[in-house]
Amino acid sequence: MYRLLMLFLLIASSELVAEERFANVQMKALHIAGSVHMLDGAGGNIGVSVGVDGTLIVDDQYAPLADRIVAALGELGGDRPRLVLNTHYHGDHTGSNPDFGRTGTIISHENVRVRLLDREGFERSGLPVVTYSDRVNVHFNDEEIEVIHLPSGYTDGDSIVWFKTANVIHLGDHYFNGMFPYVDIDAGGNVDGFIRNLESVVAMVPGDTMIIPGHGPLSDIDRLSENITVLKSSTAMIREMLADGHEIADISTALDGKYPGWGWRFINAERWAKTIEKNDAL
Ligand SMILES: [Zn+2]
Repeated sequence: MYRLLMLFLLIASSELVAEERFANVQMKALHIAGSVHMLDGAGGNIGVSVGVDGTLIVDDQYAPLADRIVAALGELGGDRPRLVLNTHYHGDHTGSNPDFGRTGTIISHENVRVRLLDREGFERSGLPVVTYSDRVNVHFNDEEIEVIHLPSGYTDGDSIVWFKTANVIHLGDHYFNGMFPYVDIDAGGNVDGFIRNLESVVAMVPGDTMIIPGHGPLSDIDRLSENITVLKSSTAMIREMLADGHEIADISTALDGKYPGWGWRFINAERWAKTIEKNDAL
C-alpha cells in the first residue's frame, strides 16, 4: 500500500513537473504555402495541412501541449487531426500521439511502432495503426503527400514528408537548422547515412522547395546546403583530429572556433565530437 502511494505521488509529481515545464510555451503558426503551415511550440516543429478534408499534422510535440496544438489548429481553420504522421519515435515528436490517436489515425514507419511499443507505459491509443516499410502516399486537402522512409540516418525509422503540391518538405530530425545535430546511434542512426540522406533530399526536390526542419527556423534549399557543408567539414575535422591523437576537449575548442554558434544546450561541440567518435567505433 505504501509503495502504491509512493508510486502515485511520484507519477503525480512528475506530471506536475511536466506541466510546469511547458506552462509558458506558446504555439506560433507560420503559413508556408497552399494548405501547409508550420507550428513552433516546444519540441519538434509540427507540419500542418488544413483544408476541405480536415486537418493533418506531421509530429505532435509533448503531451501537455496537445490542447494548445488543437487551439492553434483551430485558429488556422482546422480541428483535431484526422491524420497524424510521425517522422520518428522520439518523445518530442510523438508526445501527443495518445491524445490525438483517440480520434485520429496515426501513420508511421514500422520501426516507429516497434520503438513506441517498447516504451514503458506508452498509451495504446498513441500507437501508429498504419505502418509502411518504404513509403506511402497520402491524398488529403488536394495535396499529393509522399511519405518516404530514409535508410539509417537519424534513427532506423525516419521518414520525410513531402507536400508536393505546396512544394514543402518536412525533414523531421534529419534537419537541425543552424545547430550541430543529435544523431541517435543507439536507435540505429548513422552520421554518414544522415549526411547522405540530406544530399539525396537536395537532389530529389525542386530548388525552390521550402523546408520544415525538425528543430530550428523554416529553411530553403540554400540554407539546407549550408548546413550539409558544415556537417561534412566539421565531421572531417573531428576525424582528422581524432586520428592525430587530439583529446575531445581540444577538438571542442577548435569546433567552437571554426563554427561559432553551432554548438547549443543539448549538442554542444563536445557532444558533436563524441557523436562522431562513437559512430566510428561501431
Ligand atoms: Zn526532435
